[in-house]
Order: sequence, then structure tokens, then C-alpha cells
Amino acid sequence: MQKLQLKIHEERRLRAGHMWAYSNEIDTTATPIKGMVPGSLCALMDYRGKPLGVATVNPHVLLAVRVLSGQGDAEIDVDFFERRLRQALALRARRFPSPHYRLVFGESDGLPGLVVDRFGDVLTVQVTTAGMELLKPLLIEALQRTLSPKGILFRNDNAMRQTEGLATGEDEVIGEVPDWLQVDESGVLLDAPLKTGQKTGWYYDQRANRDRLAPYAKGARVLDVFSYVGGWALRSAAFGAAEVSCIDSSQPALDAAQRSAKNNGVRLETIKSDALEALKALRADGRQFDLIIVDPPALIKRKKDEETGMAHYGALNRAAMHLLAADAVLVSCSCSHHLSEEQLQRILLRESRQAGRRLQILERGEQGPDHPVHPAIPETRYLKAFYCRVTTG
Ligand code: SAH
Repeated sequence: MQKLQLKIHEERRLRAGHMWAYSNEIDTTATPIKGMVPGSLCALMDYRGKPLGVATVNPHVLLAVRVLSGQGDAEIDVDFFERRLRQALALRARRFPSPHYRLVFGESDGLPGLVVDRFGDVLTVQVTTAGMELLKPLLIEALQRTLSPKGILFRNDNAMRQTEGLATGEDEVIGEVPDWLQVDESGVLLDAPLKTGQKTGWYYDQRANRDRLAPYAKGARVLDVFSYVGGWALRSAAFGAAEVSCIDSSQPALDAAQRSAKNNGVRLETIKSDALEALKALRADGRQFDLIIVDPPALIKRKKDEETGMAHYGALNRAAMHLLAADAVLVSCSCSHHLSEEQLQRILLRESRQAGRRLQILERGEQGPDHPVHPAIPETRYLKAFYCRVTTG
């Protein structure tokens, strides 16, 4: 195996449990990376030549090295993948009563560049690094050994693949993958569009937070902002909401929400619009809600977007607060790793003051246990959800 040596002191983060090395941390005099095949395996060493593990390398990106195993003599073969998958599966099987969950969450499950979502006997997969792409045949064999899925769908349409120099066109199907599948989320059956949906088709990361809706949703007029296929709205309906409405800019997502609503015997209002504009229009119409969920896409994708992103979170939450009845609940979420829980709390406080409302924080949520946090990699802890009571006077 080709060798890759780090510069002096650059091994510290890895020794502390991290799984990445950047291209500028590599001693390219001792071990040039130019010309290495993107995604190929290498034996990673510190400046003294002591092994740090086995990693994949992509010489064309800043985040060049991703460690697969901290053991210098690890074999990266089908057995390696099978062991990792079985470990991932054991956690989920213990934690969830039905086979619907994120099965593999990248680095947190020891498999950098890989996300696998399970929908019963169908899997949707995102491979986001050149390293994982080259190892795909081993992965497929290991998935078949571990789960014998009826179908595997590789979703290739994401920006990370582009950065890594991978094809982003057609998705790939192995076996049989239906266009639609039902997700069992805490006993409620919801329709997920696998092939045309976003990311892997379903946002499993919010399940535990949606479970908390019960006491707030009962009898409430509910507005689900950035609804995608209506997860929050439909769970609210199942908890006995009086009325449910969804806002999203994607018509296919709203159509999927309607399909789910119909299958659950629920009436659903859908509004296809930019979220902020829709919130303003609802205010102009004098509409009010008892429970509003604001669950936008990551509005701060890079550190440099921080200021505009924070302003955007502020504007959205303020607009939502203007629609809340006198004693109502706002669930405000952020999946931007760059926005801390404290920053979101500050935004919520500021906007409630601006709106002339009183804010009480009732509960705080994070990503569910099928998205484990890697304690050395802060990016793996990304989801925040505040349950706030918003009152007048
Ligand atoms: N709340 C969803 C996940 C939201 S994903 C769930 O729990 O499943 C983000 C959603 O925001 C996507 O469906 C996307 O279509 C929508 N979106 C992105 N930008 C938007 C905008 N400016 N206005 C309205 N919706 C938007």
C-alpha cells in the first residue's frame, strides 16, 4: 500500500480520535500525493513513521485524507465493511422497532463518505468521497451479506460528489427500488418518494423531535414551514391537530405530502411558495396558528455565510412569531453546523422581543440516535430544535 506521512505535530488531531487530515498537513516531500489515484488507499503515518491507520486519499481536495481504520495493519475488504455495517445495524435494531432509520452516518459509524438510509428492504445510499466510490463493490457485497436488500438506490445528485470529482448525473439502481415507500415513523405510516425525493428521501434525523409534538399538536392549528413531504404536519395530524398546513417551494414535495395525507385520511392545506413570502402573505390574510414548525435547509453552509444566514434565521422566526396565537408554540430548528445552539437561542430571544412577545424555552432537541455524534468531529453534531412557548403581554 502507498504511504502517506504527515508533517510534525499534524498527527495530534488524529491521535485524539479525529478521522481527517488536510492536504497542507501532509509531508509531500517525504510522500508526494500528486499523481495518487483519487480515492486510493494509503497507510497513514506520523512524521516519525509511526502508523496512524489506513485511509483513503484524494489529492485534488483540501480534505484529502479520511481514515477508515485507526489500525495500521487493517485490511479494507468485504469483511471490514461487514463488521462496520453489523455494528451500525446492532445499534439501530436495538433502538427502533421497525426497520426504518439511518443505518450509516458517515464518520460517526466509522465509514467516512457514506450515508445509508434504510426503508425496510430497500436502501438509499449517498457516497460522497472518491475513497468510498472506489470501495463501492466491497460495500455492495457487504450490504448484501448483512441485509440482503431487495433494492439499493445510489443517489448521486449532491454537491459533495462534485467537489470530489465524482459523477453527479444518473442515480444507480441495484435490484428493485420502487418510486414510493412508506416510512413507519413511530407508528405513523408516511409516504416517502425515493427516486425523486431530496437527499436520501426522508429526514430521519428529526424523528425524536417530531415524537415530542404530541402535547402541543392536539387540537392545534399547525403550520409546517419548509415542510418537504410534510413529516411534521402529518405527525401533528396523527397527534390530533385541528388543522394542518404546509409551506414549501417544491411542488413534488407538497404533492408527496398530499399523498401521505390522503393515505392517512387527513385534510392538508399546501402552499407552494418561498417560505418568507408565504409567512408574510398569511399575516396579511389575518391567519393565526397555535403551533408553527420552522425547519429550514441549512442556511449557513459555509462559515462565510454566517452573517446572512443568521439574518435569514432571524427573519423567518420573526415572521413565524407574527402568526402565532396569543399562547402558542414555536418549534424552531437549524441543521447548520455553523450555527450553535446558543446562537439560535439568542436569535429567538431577540426576535421575540422585536415581535413584542414573551418566549419560554420548553424543550431542546437534537438529531436522533441513528445519527450518532462523533465526539472528535464537531460537524457530526448539527441539528438543533427549540420548543418555545410564545405568549403575549
Ligand atoms: N422539515 C422537513 C425537512 C426540510 S428540508 C422534514 O422534516 O422532513 C428543506 C425544505 O425546504 C425542502 O423541502 C425544500 O424544498 C424547501 N425549501 C428550500 N428553500 C425554500 C424556500 N426559500 N422557501 C420554501 N421552501 C424552501
